[in-house]
Amino acid sequence: MSKTYTNKNFDKTSLDWSLIQSDLKIKLGTDVYESWIKKIGLFEEFNNYILLAVPTRFIRDWITSRYLDQILQTIKKHKKEIIRIEFKIIENKNNNFSSSIEQNKVSDVKNISFITDSYLQYNRIDPNKRFENFLIGSSNKIAFEASLKVSENISYYNPLYVYGGVGLGKTHLLNSIGHEMNKNKKVMFISAERFMYQFVKSIKSNDMVKFKEYFRNTDVLLIDDIQFMNGKEAMQEEFFHTFNALLEKGSQIIVSADRPPNKLIRIQERIKSRFSGGLVVDIQKPEYDLRKKILDHKIDELMSLHSGKLDISEEIKDFISTKITTNVRELVGAINRIVSFSRIYNKLPSLAETKVILKDLLNLNENTVTIDAIQTIVCKFFKISKNEMLSSRRSRYLVRPRQTAIYLTKLLTTKSLPEIGREFSNRDHTTIIHSVKTIEQLKEKNSDMKDNINKLKNIILYNRENEI
Ligand code: ADP
Ligand code: MG
Repeated sequence: MSKTYTNKNFDKTSLDWSLIQSDLKIKLGTDVYESWIKKIGLFEEFNNYILLAVPTRFIRDWITSRYLDQILQTIKKHKKEIIRIEFKIIENKNNNFSSSIEQNKVSDVKNISFITDSYLQYNRIDPNKRFENFLIGSSNKIAFEASLKVSENISYYNPLYVYGGVGLGKTHLLNSIGHEMNKNKKVMFISAERFMYQFVKSIKSNDMVKFKEYFRNTDVLLIDDIQFMNGKEAMQEEFFHTFNALLEKGSQIIVSADRPPNKLIRIQERIKSRFSGGLVVDIQKPEYDLRKKILDHKIDELMSLHSGKLDISEEIKDFISTKITTNVRELVGAINRIVSFSRIYNKLPSLAETKVILKDLLNLNENTVTIDAIQTIVCKFFKISKNEMLSSRRSRYLVRPRQTAIYLTKLLTTKSLPEIGREFSNRDHTTIIHSVKTIEQLKEKNSDMKDNINKLKNIILYNRENEI
């Protein structure tokens, strides 16, 4: 089997996936575990990111929109270098997911066995990210036009350096250039992380000659997230020479980063100055019109994938485009959640439900929801005093409100179970788990309970009572 798939030779701390899954089971509960987490497999592990396998696109979207942060946090506990998760969709043909994953790895390797080195595997141009589906507004117009020009005229601007914050479309643009130029040129599209990994691997296996040849042979070199290339003098040296050799022979170079060249750290001055010597363009945060346009477009795109139609009201669209302002990735994430919600519950979310689904994306500062506020609101709602809520009395009229407050605290804050326990008169964390479970179950069976929870959520999060 190719080395790429048995990466143990460079990674000594291989993750134990079953251990991570059992951690997640505790963290997210058995229901979530059984419905979603169990379906995830570990496909491949890299230095600082991992590739997970899931059986369907829908499961991927659901997990991404709901649990990605918690999964990443848990993985980080086992291996702190992991900073990113990617998903691969592998159909689960024979109901045995891990054997499907194995088979998939084997067939992948078979498919590329005629390639003598493995660089091509890293040349992953995503056919879904093209110029045609890159929407343009005043915030990204210059970057878009420069990229388009570059893809039409070799060496018009060389190098082209595109920078901007996370999730603003840099990778999409680089990918579009790659996609376009790949039609008649030799294109190499690689992230700086991969470049480093490949470099180190080539040194270890005495393959430097091949490495150099490979990179110096390309007509177009796209390097994504150059800010991750830092340190390692020898590698920067190699990069610099490759860079110069390519420019000399008239190859096109395109680089992306999260900051302008002069703000890059631990990258040689001469490399930065070569970057600055080409065309430097930035992408700004999307303006309202662009956000709205992206929203409409992505909803259509997603729904056509699921071959359905979703008439999200103007009110909700407007709400999302007004509130989610930081980047396009979050906007896309928000749409994914709305679409997942509608598919699961078979109805469109109301505005109030939208607020709940998107809570963490809406810049509602987590700190504004305090345990104290939750307790106060719940006490008022059930007409009991705070002393009663915090007492150890077990009268029925006190137990439900107490459990409800505990449930809402778990749901709406990031406090840990022991922390919540402390705030509820030093109750044990098992009591907290029990309360959360009880309310979750009641909510399913009892529509009054569900209404009350929704009303309370609305008051706590938005200070409004009459919605839902
Ligand atoms: P970055 O590399 O800057 O972090 P990405 O290129 O990965 O951001 O973009 C994040 C997501 O947003 C991707 O799904 C991408 O397709 C989408 N996206 C970003 N900008 C646009 C745009 N102008 N039009 C359509 N989709 C966009
Ligand atoms: Mg990117």
